[in-house]
Amino acid sequence: MHYIDLRSDTVTQPTKEMRDSIYHAQVGDDVYNEDPTINRLEEMAAEMLGKQAGMFVPSGTQGNQICVMTHTQPGEEIILEEKCHIITYEVGGIGRLSGVQAKLLHGNKGVMAPEDIEAAIREEDIHQPKTGLICLENTHNRAGGTVIPMDILKKTYEVAKKHNIPVHMDGARVFNAATYLKLPVKEIAQYTDSVMFCLSKGLCAPVGSMVVGSNEFIQKARKYRKMLGGGMRQAGFLAAAGIVSLEKMTLRLQDDHYHAQLLAKGLNRIAGIKVDMDTVQTNIIICDISGLKMTGTEFSQRLYDKGIKINGGSASTIRFVTHYWIKEEDIEITLNAVNSIIK
Ligand SMILES: *Cc1c(COP(=O)(O)O)cnc(C)c1O
Repeated sequence: MHYIDLRSDTVTQPTKEMRDSIYHAQVGDDVYNEDPTINRLEEMAAEMLGKQAGMFVPSGTQGNQICVMTHTQPGEEIILEEKCHIITYEVGGIGRLSGVQAKLLHGNKGVMAPEDIEAAIREEDIHQPKTGLICLENTHNRAGGTVIPMDILKKTYEVAKKHNIPVHMDGARVFNAATYLKLPVKEIAQYTDSVMFCLSKGLCAPVGSMVVGSNEFIQKARKYRKMLGGGMRQAGFLAAAGIVSLEKMTLRLQDDHYHAQLLAKGLNRIAGIKVDMDTVQTNIIICDISGLKMTGTEFSQRLYDKGIKINGGSASTIRFVTHYWIKEEDIEITLNAVNSIIK
């Protein structure tokens, strides 16, 4: 059976062009810096984000964790938004791997106010930890794919620089943010010291994420990647798909955003389902189904029986994510299926 899979953009299969480029990729031992395809991907990523250097990593989680390790010293404190991926979905890695503690701030649609960040920065005091890093998430996953407005991002970076604190961006979907803002991605990255972004989500690559930053930062980060087992030898086969991601797939994300708008507006017209349209900026839709007397798990099971996969849990929220393999007709089929299961 063919399923319409709206669980996540991580489910994206590689495109035909990716499969061809994987087959033909030139490879070498990347631990010796001898994989020409990885070297090219790293240069392309650095260039697109306006940074000196890039590093290919197996996953976004590893990329984020390496960045926290590289920026901080054990015993420091780092500032994060309370529902961010690093806190929610990375298995407590910052405590275990970096030995840092988290200062969590409440965000408005995932966006922390620069004033709140400044107020959270620790003073020079014998009792207090040193604030070692500010982490931002753009787009913000659990807030529904929301984008950090450019003025807030700039102000946040100014606060960070005033206090001499580095800024890391978990930009798993930073190309979705750039598409929404209609800006080159380097305009966003200029207000960061490091960015992690995923090739394996909306950009359709089968595996891999990128970390970008200064030469010095990436040199140090490579050692932590090796420590965590991320030295990958002939991984140019994976990087080959990543090159197609950067060259082609970054240019089409507006289609996914358009499909998300169609789906969100359609869902909002169904009694018992509520979508806060202010949060539907990119390719993620979070719905409140508390008006339906059904849990997310029940809702998703019934949709599954109709050939549609979504993420729903015990709470009364469900999530849809659009991506390359979701076409306009799939949105209509999905809306019809939702209408039929709640009857
Ligand atoms: C998906 C994601 C990651 C990394 O995920 P991996 O599955 O480890 O590649 C990091 N941050 C955010 C916001 C994400 O959505």
